[in-house]
Amino acid sequence: MGTQNYEVVIVGAGPAGMTAGLYAGRALLKTVVIERGAPGGELLNTEAIEDYPGFERVEGWDLAQKFASHAAKFGCEFHTRNVVQIKRQDDGTFETTCDDGESYRSPTVIVTAGGTPIKLGIPGENEYAGKGVSYCAVCDGAFFKGHVIAVVGGGDAACEEADYLTRFAEKVYLIHRRDEFRASKIVQKRVFENPKIEVIWNTVVEAIHGDAKGLVDRLALRDTITDTTRDLAATGIFVFIGFKPNTTIIADHVDHDATGYVLTDWNMQTTIPGLFAAGDVRVQLTRQVTTAVGDGTTAAVAAEKYLTQLKDREKATAAAGEGMA
Ligand SMILES: Cc1cc2nc3c(=O)[nH]c(=O)nc-3n(C[C@H](O)[C@H](O)[C@H](O)COP(=O)(O)OP(=O)(O)OC[C@H]3O[C@@H](n4cnc5c(N)ncnc54)[C@H](O)[C@@H]3O)c2cc1C
Repeated sequence: MGTQNYEVVIVGAGPAGMTAGLYAGRALLKTVVIERGAPGGELLNTEAIEDYPGFERVEGWDLAQKFASHAAKFGCEFHTRNVVQIKRQDDGTFETTCDDGESYRSPTVIVTAGGTPIKLGIPGENEYAGKGVSYCAVCDGAFFKGHVIAVVGGGDAACEEADYLTRFAEKVYLIHRRDEFRASKIVQKRVFENPKIEVIWNTVVEAIHGDAKGLVDRLALRDTITDTTRDLAATGIFVFIGFKPNTTIIADHVDHDATGYVLTDWNMQTTIPGLFAAGDVRVQLTRQVTTAVGDGTTAAVAAEKYLTQLKDREKATAAAGEGMA
């Protein structure tokens, strides 16, 4: 295994990474996207997308294929590897190391490694993912018009999304394992004043069950005080118990928020020059395919400008050296 040299290394082939790859490739920069699985990111966990402009409805897998082939058309390479570390070297370049020992040297890196919603880890959760189990209200809420659904969690995300989901659902059960929410008071107020939300306190979901069509139809609940169990009829369950950005691969300190999302400037640059972050991995208001592709675009254009400045500086230094000679 050796070291390969690129101008732009992109970590993660979700919508942000593939868009960054498209723009960097089209700018004729030697670009590689390193992805540990199949290209697509969270698109591969999404059955249908109805809010990507120009596509009234598109399968997540189809959109992922289109993104990948479009980026490849402009010369962006895709390597299948698991990145374990991105480290800035003394000369300002980055070394991106993979778990098979291969490494990449580049003056710029764009981190588009996304994040992972924390799961309940209960029977039925994986089986019914996309068939009633969701981790994204903006993405999937519209599929539950007139349904009776459940939201799990007690923080801001769970309370806000429960409130949001009542636009579509006839009724939303908000299931929380404790007897009070962690959410801010203003968000809690919205929940308590919403007649379509019924809070179920001190309760955990132990299993998700489905009907003959393979769609969620009920949840097995356990009261944590009385230890009694019961079934709750619900055709959807939205889980908001946390989201973990994939940032542990960044070896050096970059500024981040309390939950670990990377802080960037308007050019998607982190607090380390030459290191950019785009998509779900960074601090922002909402996390969607549209925002990820926007971030990826900005990051690639900014990386190109950064490279141009580096080259100009090198030329100026070389010219100054010749002048001295
Ligand atoms: C169930 C679900 C449904 C959704 N539905 C919609 C929807 O309908 N509409 C919408 O707009 N948005 C939707 N979203 C949100 C949308 O999918 C994300 O906002 C978007 O995919 C973010 O893109 P990204 O490129 O930032 O990250 P991701 O899509 O998460 O891609 C990150 C990629 O990085 C790779 N990676 C991570 N770590 C490493 C590593 N160490 N080495 C190599 N590769 C690595 C991952 O394997 C992954 O492929 C949904 C999300 C979920 C979870």
